[in-house]
This record gives sequence, structure tokens and C-alpha cells, in this order.
Amino acid sequence: MIEIKNKKITIIGAARSGIASAELALRKGAIPFVSDISSEEKLLESINRLKELNVEFEVGKHSKKIFDCDLMIISPGVPTNSEIIIEAKSKNINVISEIEFASMFCKGKIIGITGTNGKTTTTSLVGHLLSVAGIKNYVAGNIGNAFSNISDSISENEFAVLEVSSFQLDLIKNFKPYISAILNITPDHLDRYDNDLTKYAQSKQRIYENQDENDFLILNNDSPILISNLNPHKAIRFNFSSSSKVNKGCYLKNDDMIFINDTIEEVICSVNDLFIKGEHNIQNAMAAIIIGKILSISNEKIKEALSTFKGVEHRIEFVRKINGVSFYNDSKATNVDSVIVALKSFTNSILLILGGRDKGNDYSLIEDLVKDKVKKIYAIGESANKVYDYFNMIVETIKCDSLEDAVRKSFNDAQSGDVVLLSPACASFDMFKNFEHRGEVFKNLVNQL
Ligand code: ADP
Repeated sequence: MIEIKNKKITIIGAARSGIASAELALRKGAIPFVSDISSEEKLLESINRLKELNVEFEVGKHSKKIFDCDLMIISPGVPTNSEIIIEAKSKNINVISEIEFASMFCKGKIIGITGTNGKTTTTSLVGHLLSVAGIKNYVAGNIGNAFSNISDSISENEFAVLEVSSFQLDLIKNFKPYISAILNITPDHLDRYDNDLTKYAQSKQRIYENQDENDFLILNNDSPILISNLNPHKAIRFNFSSSSKVNKGCYLKNDDMIFINDTIEEVICSVNDLFIKGEHNIQNAMAAIIIGKILSISNEKIKEALSTFKGVEHRIEFVRKINGVSFYNDSKATNVDSVIVALKSFTNSILLILGGRDKGNDYSLIEDLVKDKVKKIYAIGESANKVYDYFNMIVETIKCDSLEDAVRKSFNDAQSGDVVLLSPACASFDMFKNFEHRGEVFKNLVNQL
């Protein structure tokens, strides 16, 4: 634990994690200064909080004052290759991420979960598992509750279950999880890694760089980009796979989820025991099973946790069944990859609500799945024309004026046994504040039917 009393700390970014860092710095007797390039209007809530805390700050710019410090903490939204970070490093300022800062004050054990997809789901699931097993834990990180909010209140026998983004990992120094898991790596966020997939993959590998022989590392054997970019590691390694056998970790034998530790092999539960559906969730559950076994949680408790975990809001979230028609909210599916995962999760025929702000979507990736599973598409938002033009020849597609229009029309068209799925493959900003807002509106509409 380092001493930062009376030290000057510059915090770049005044959103959630920046404010949490400032508060932690204050609790430790340091002198924080917060700087954010966004406008005052966008930061009103943060500004009010900083004033309440009596923390010095600037908005709308980064002045030279940011370099007058002993330590610089970077919020995850700030690109690692930005000018200010390069300049700070050239001045020999210690530049770290918020999660590194928070971890400096954590006495408890850290479980760090990263990957391109599934972080929030798996982090919540692991928190739930520990709670079911009666193990005191704090779920934090990218998931919404900054680690800095709670890291210094965790005691030795307690756990921090952290969702860790690659942006946070880019600026770690000593961050050392007791258990780390990399769920998968597929191309994403490449704009922040000079369009270099290897750089992005390497960034995720940093989660285990400080681990030692007493720590554990969990990897997805089915993720080729992850496995081909591995670095040497000291931690004890477990693998999971939903497609083939592993020697140490978790795999599927028919429908059974098997935990294997060299010679000992045991059935933990059936995939049918999982409340959350889809192959991707089987993989998320496998990571959780391995964590449970490492922590000596009983098989009964692991099974109980897996069957009672209801998933996370806006991720293939069951909303309601009306006249045999099930409605699912997958508003978090803001890219085509996520829609693939969603479509694969159902055996029913699907009425799919698609569209929003397009990010250069390549719909050829879902063409076969759509042919196979989708009865009708309801195109919404800015990209309604693009969706219509692409899919109309493949499956009946209609343009809708609004999400409300799409919900009403899909309900009228649906038959008992069908699924109405909002999995838009697009960002939400053309019609909504964010994907959460889009999901809430969808759920309200469905609940009014
Ligand atoms: P993240 O926090 O990494 O964005 P989420 O749990 O919020 O992950 O899920 C994001 C999207 O990815 C959802 O649409 C979800 O259905 C899908 N998803 C969840 N787990 C996985 C996984 N293991 N592999 C691939 N896709 C996944």
C-alpha cells in the first residue's frame, strides 16, 4: 500500500471513475485535481459533486496544470495514445489507470474478468456465485461501480469481483488479480489500438502479467486470437471449452458441464440447469464454475448459483410472455457479433427488430442465421433503409416509424411459440440516450401490450 498523503494527483476525466478516483484520493489525504475536455453542460452532475468535495477542477480543456503532479490517473474513456498521456510520460510522471490506482488500496483478493464479450454477464454471475456461497464480495469496475469507490473498504478475507476493460489494463503497473479470466478476444475497439488486432489482444493479456505461482488464470480454449497471443505466465492455468475436451478446467460432455483437474473429473450440472441461455452463456458459466472450484465452493452451491442467476438487464433479457409469444430485450447488442450470439440462443422462430445508428455493419455475417431462424424483420431508426435494402430479398422486412411501431407490428404478426427479439446490431443514439434507455422503452412498450 503506497502513501499518497499530501501528494498532488491529477485525474484525467470527470465521469464516474474520475469522480471515484478523486474521492479515494481525498480519503487517502492526497490533493486531487480533475481535468476534463468535455463541456460544462455535459458534466453538470460531476461538477456539482466536485464542488461539494471541494476538489479543484477544470473542464473544456486540459491546461498545463495537469502536469504539476506526482501521479496521473487516467479514466478509461481517455485513449492511451492521446497527446497528454504521451507528454506526461515524457515528463516522467507516473501515469496509471483508475483500476491500478484503486487496487493500490485493496487488502482483499481480486478476481479480474476481461474479454471482448461477456464481461458484464460473467462478472455479475461470479458475484452472485460468491454471494450464494456466503463469501463476502464487491462487484465493481467497468460494470458501473468504479473500483475506487470501494477498494479501500475491502478486508483481507473478502473479494473484489472486477469487470476489467482493456483500456484499464493499458495503464496498469502492479495490478495483480488472485484469479484472472479472459473470456474471449475478437476484433473490437481497434480504433484505439492503431487498427492492430495484436495490440488489442496483447492489451488483454496484461491481466495476468503480475500474477505469480499462487494465482490462477482462466482462458477460453475456443478463442483462437486469445490463445495465439498468449504470453508466458506464472499463474496456475485452467481452460474452458464448449467444443472440445480440456485437461484442466471445464468442458461439455453431451449436456453435462464437467470440471476436470488433471485426474479428477466431476459433473457440476447440466447446461439445462442454466437459467441464462445460449452457447456464449455456457462459456460464461464455465468461467464461473472454474472460479467456484478454485475457491472450494461446493458443487451444489455452484449449481444453485447457475440456476438462479437471471442474467443482466438488456442482454437477451426475458421480458414477458403474451399469448405464447416471448419478448426478449437485447438492446446491448450494438454490433453484428452480438446479434449472432442472440439468434443462436433460440430454437424458436424469431421476429427480429433491427436498426439504429449503423457503425458500418456487415450484414452478410448474419445472412445464413437470418434465413434459418428469422420469420420477419422490423427495421427501425436511421438505418431502417439499409436494413430493408439488405434483408428484404432474404426474409420479409418492413420499415417501422418507431420502436413502438415495431413492437406493435411484431406482436400482431407473432404466433404462439414465436420470439420477438430486440437485438438491433446498432448504436442507440439516433433515437435514444443510450442502449439502456432503448431497452427500458422496449420493456415499457411490451409491458403495455
Ligand atoms: P461486455 O460487458 O463484455 O460487453 P456483456 O455481458 O454485456 O459483455 O454482453 C455483451 C453482448 O455480448 C451481449 O449482447 C451478449 O449477448 C453477448 N455475449 C455475452 N457473453 C458472451 C460471450 N461469452 N461470447 C460472445 N458474446 C457474448
